[in-house]
Amino acid sequence: MRQVVVLGAGLAGLLAAAALARPGRTVTLVERDDLPDTPGPRRGVPQSPQPHVFLHRGVQAVEELLPGTRADLVAAGAVVIDTGDLAWLASAGWAARVRQLDILSVTRPVFEHVVRQHVRTLPGVVLRTGVRVDGLAHAPVGGPDSHAWDVEVADGDPLPADLVVDATGRSSRLPSWLEHLGVSPARTDTLDARVGYSSWVVDLPHDRVGVPGIVVQTQPGGTGGIAVPVEGDRWIVGAVGAGDQRPPRDPDALLAFLDTLPDPAIAELAGAGRAVSDVAVHRQTGNQRHRYDLLPDWPDGLLVVGDALCAFNPVYGQGVTVAALEALALRTADRRRTLTRPGGAHALVRRLRRLTDLPWDIATGVDRDFVPSARRASPARRAMGRWIGEVNRLGAHGDTRAQLALGRLYHLVASPLTLLHPALVVRVVRARRRGYGPPVPRPQILVPTPTPDPA
Ligand SMILES: Cc1cc2nc3c(=O)[nH]c(=O)nc-3n(C[C@H](O)[C@H](O)[C@H](O)COP(=O)(O)OP(=O)(O)OC[C@H]3O[C@@H](n4cnc5c(N)ncnc54)[C@H](O)[C@@H]3O)c2cc1C
Repeated sequence: MRQVVVLGAGLAGLLAAAALARPGRTVTLVERDDLPDTPGPRRGVPQSPQPHVFLHRGVQAVEELLPGTRADLVAAGAVVIDTGDLAWLASAGWAARVRQLDILSVTRPVFEHVVRQHVRTLPGVVLRTGVRVDGLAHAPVGGPDSHAWDVEVADGDPLPADLVVDATGRSSRLPSWLEHLGVSPARTDTLDARVGYSSWVVDLPHDRVGVPGIVVQTQPGGTGGIAVPVEGDRWIVGAVGAGDQRPPRDPDALLAFLDTLPDPAIAELAGAGRAVSDVAVHRQTGNQRHRYDLLPDWPDGLLVVGDALCAFNPVYGQGVTVAALEALALRTADRRRTLTRPGGAHALVRRLRRLTDLPWDIATGVDRDFVPSARRASPARRAMGRWIGEVNRLGAHGDTRAQLALGRLYHLVASPLTLLHPALVVRVVRARRRGYGPPVPRPQILVPTPTPDPA
């Protein structure tokens, strides 16, 4: 495999390129946008002003692919947060604060910029920007320079490729490109709770706030919010709401919205700072998964990763982590040379689909409640959902073991089965019989400013 073409230089495309780069091979990333030399917003990633949380497993996987990224992110201003220190309000109450796994909090443009800088230095990686991919064609067979694919681009000659990786995101046109190639259509699973985000940036010294971040988890009514510190003593403050509860764009109305959450902690933080951006609204958040794994006639030499394969309701912060785990799977398959075998690419697509199973269950498990037409979850999944509620309740009454187990699931480092550990079962049964003990108190949000000495 000498020529790889990756379509789209968002995070999934960059990480796929990192996984496949090696001496003696050209990996060409083709990106529609002109990419800025410094971190900044761009058209192809309209979600970039929204709060992004990079889960523990994701940051670990990015570091495995691109050693040194984590240190560079911290040098660029990313804030390291122990998730256990967050003020986290679930429907059962405030979570117990306990040492947990850490995350990086940084704006999406900075994260992507640092990853892109690393990828640019890899051997054989070529970044072609301002080039739109328009389709795929099988290359003519034979000849000294034989290759599998011609990648069709707007205003240019087709790019030859032995392997093509589609990483063009949620609005990937792969379904229609495959149709033109005569491949059977793939089923697409969707579940759209019509979640909206409204966010803005607030200038507020990090040490003015008594907690490293606030999460008001989506409540039964479908609303929630987040406030996380980012580079430059700033905070990204975001509100989310499903269906008719989507948060507004008007700044005053948005503060009022945050005030109506079960706890006004985020409104309190936002009100103490100075808004330094407009409110950015984003509403394309439905869960969507193309079941390419089920196709009987998937072509060799073609892969699909990131949101182009499976996009999640982003409130669980899983997309980048899944893209990074997919890239690791790509690297393993490439090293084992299974990708070039007949059927090898489809075997990997099936493996990538399995990687999306747990995050898909997490995201759709909750969203199902907000979509009246959605099929009910299976009895086993409903039972698991109720059990997670029980463990949450323990955590909200100070049980650190319960909180740790939930945290590991959230960070995608453990399976939901770990919540069935006998020690947790015993604690739940005991609490139900003898009572839960006092709830975790509300954390103090703002650090009181010293009153000036009148003298
Ligand atoms: C509101 C919101 C908040 C989110 N928050 C989080 C979070 O907290 N944590 C997290 O992990 N994830 C989060 N995500 C998800 C995350 O942004 C994505 O899952 C992740 O970035 C992977 O995206 P991607 O690279 O597959 O696609 P994208 O980021 O959409 O990138 C696709 C790229 O392909 C390019 N492209 C598209 N079409 C073409 C074409 N025809 N030719 C050439 N180039 C093309 C685009 O310009 C773009 O650069 C959030 C998403 C949203 C919408």
